[in-house]
Amino acid sequence: IDVRTTGREHEYYYERAREMGIKFVKGRPTEILHDPEANLLIVDVEDELLRRFLELEADLVVLSPAMVPVEDTKELAEMLGLELDKDGFFKEYNAKLRPTETKKRGIFICGGATFPKDAPTTSLQAHSAAVKAAKFLLNGKIVKDQRTAYVNEDYCGDCEFCPVTCPYGAITLMEKADGHFVAHVDDLLCEGCGVCVGTCPVGAIELRHLKPSQISAQMKALLSVNGTSKPLVLAFCCSECGHAAVDSSGMAMLNYPANVRVLRVPCTGVLQVQHILEAFKAGAQGVMVVGCKSDGCHYEVGSQKTQKKVELAKTLLKEYGVEPERLEMFNMVYIEGDKFAEAAKAMTERVEKLGALQLA
Ligand code: SF4
Ligand code: SF4
Repeated sequence: IDVRTTGREHEYYYERAREMGIKFVKGRPTEILHDPEANLLIVDVEDELLRRFLELEADLVVLSPAMVPVEDTKELAEMLGLELDKDGFFKEYNAKLRPTETKKRGIFICGGATFPKDAPTTSLQAHSAAVKAAKFLLNGKIVKDQRTAYVNEDYCGDCEFCPVTCPYGAITLMEKADGHFVAHVDDLLCEGCGVCVGTCPVGAIELRHLKPSQISAQMKALLSVNGTSKPLVLAFCCSECGHAAVDSSGMAMLNYPANVRVLRVPCTGVLQVQHILEAFKAGAQGVMVVGCKSDGCHYEVGSQKTQKKVELAKTLLKEYGVEPERLEMFNMVYIEGDKFAEAAKAMTERVEKLGALQLA
């Protein structure tokens, strides 16, 4: 019941309506009565701003209640494996980066399915959804790359962590001939984020395109030579916003210290606490984990889960006598090259002040 306009140029209509003598009252009408003698409608309303009751006479009363999702939206969402937002509308994959898309490839949404909107915006969204759907169907086949996760069944302990963690519902538990259950990844649903890898307590899941040994090898190579007078800092950057922010800093000709080494991972969610600790062992004096904003993570839960792992790693560092300030998580969007450059400089300065890292 706020008096405000949200659509493009709607403020203009609001102002024009006020100029034409229409009175706007912020408040909830309590009763609408009909005066048969004067043939008028009487609206009882509490003006919330002035904190007083008003009795307004009107020739016509138009009630414009809130738009809510249709009753079976929840049922349809469950059937299609789609998510709903807190108001019960269908959730877009990423309203800014992938509007009208859902996390299910080939399912697009537009108009009032996502939230109440006016006709021009609905039409614009409908065009977007139609073009994306046409593009999807144009080839007559779906190309799915093999950047997916797989389970080493011999190690899987049926802990059930990964099926509930996967943002795409790609993991199910399957019963083996001996009666044991093991996790199974559906290649068609898997988006290759690696969040399950970072969650599995026994290392039973790996990504085909980035094995833990490859992360270790890259880490060692990046930290093997310094070549600067500053302490080495390793930055784990997600392929989405994190690494794009690094690129943005380069495109904007912003300098960030050469002692900061960037290691690209699909999503920061792939990282395990041991990767972070290993970075220090491999020669990093400081570690940055750079991912999407927690409410805008391309893989939904990746950034949130990583934040918790970073906190845990800080606690462990403290236990080992290492300053936890040597580790920090940064969340940014892909265009924030300046933010990455600043974070890299700040982290370098922080680590310089702490002095050389002494590992027992
Ligand atoms: S890599 Fe990501 S999408 Fe694939 S199974 Fe693991 S958590 Fe799910
Ligand atoms: S998290 Fe690891 S051990 Fe647990 S069910 Fe998944 S693969 Fe198996």
